[in-house]
Amino acid sequence: MTELSPTKFAIEAQDGEARAGVLTTRRGRIETPVFMPVGTAGTVKGIRFEALESEDLDAKIILGNTYHLWLRPGIDVIKSAGGLHRFIGWDRALLTDSGGFQVWSLGSLRKITEEGAEFRSHVDGSLRFLSPEVSMEVQAALGSDIVMVFDECAPGEASHEETERSMSLTTRWAKRSKAAFDRLQSEGADTGRLESDGLSGLSGCQALFGIIQGAGHLDLRRISLEKTVEIGFDGYAIGGLSVGEEKSLMFEVIGDIAPRMPKDSPRYLMGVGTPEDLVEAVARGMDMFDCVLPTRNGRTGQAFTSRGKLNIKNAQWTNDSRPLDESCGCSVCRRHSRAYLRHLYMTGEMLASVLLSHHNLAFFLDTMRGVRQSIRSGDFPTFRREFTGRLGAIGENQ
Ligand SMILES: [Zn+2]
Repeated sequence: MTELSPTKFAIEAQDGEARAGVLTTRRGRIETPVFMPVGTAGTVKGIRFEALESEDLDAKIILGNTYHLWLRPGIDVIKSAGGLHRFIGWDRALLTDSGGFQVWSLGSLRKITEEGAEFRSHVDGSLRFLSPEVSMEVQAALGSDIVMVFDECAPGEASHEETERSMSLTTRWAKRSKAAFDRLQSEGADTGRLESDGLSGLSGCQALFGIIQGAGHLDLRRISLEKTVEIGFDGYAIGGLSVGEEKSLMFEVIGDIAPRMPKDSPRYLMGVGTPEDLVEAVARGMDMFDCVLPTRNGRTGQAFTSRGKLNIKNAQWTNDSRPLDESCGCSVCRRHSRAYLRHLYMTGEMLASVLLSHHNLAFFLDTMRGVRQSIRSGDFPTFRREFTGRLGAIGENQ
């Protein structure tokens, strides 16, 4: 076992359940609550790394998907490049998911047993097997700074019995993940540490986060929380939300579970959500978020703004010289009009996706900046009320 510390976490201000803190990883300091842009296949789609680092976005941590990177380009390529950071050219923090959610999303194409999940690769149709041990090996090879345990996700509407079976499996997989993770750390399998012998001199080892499952069943969520904390992780995530359940149920689960999660560890809400979802989850005590919405919606012509969603395809923007969001200071809003962005989108120009994705990320990241400041200054309830109050104001006739 390494004596290096994986992460440090300190809460610096609290307003109700909302917390503002600092998560220190081996690749730098991250102020929380934080939004983490998703870099599925080693890229935040349509966004250059210079832009992610720019003042506009200033993303301190991004995500990589174990499932996608494992299948393509494969671990050998990433290992020989010296880890995922070097491969993609990113020096800031990286969190990798375990691949569990992607495998689960394959539906009937996968078979889940006690041992792990067997599935057909969506890339070449080959038969693959992912387990807690394989996931930990892949994430060690990627050299990410935060590793997630391999879990199973029950569907949002799953019965109590089905959810209990799935949640128990997740607990057993969490134990196996932790054991494999510890072994790999002591064997020096973390590619990030190999790199530290060279130029970067990383200050710590990889961190491992546990995942709380249990779908919409609060009793099972509480058991999952207790068992996950018993195993002991560097941080704790709520998984399996925003998978088809009602939004009110999602917030019921977060509202019940978040305040029971360890106070001195970061709390990560996986795969959620819209800007208003993030603000609402912060109000219930969550610290970390990721979601594909900013870039995915950017590619389909949808902008998130302080006054609600704006569909750039709508004819009403044809001659509109205003920016996407008059309250946004991002480089897209400083330079381009809705009319121009609409023109780019309608003519199928790739720049439309790039610019809309950039603005959307800027809006998500800036929202979290506002959240952090308001918690620190004790104004979070006002921020929350005003933020929510403005949404929907854009209307289709504006
Ligand atoms: Zn903007």
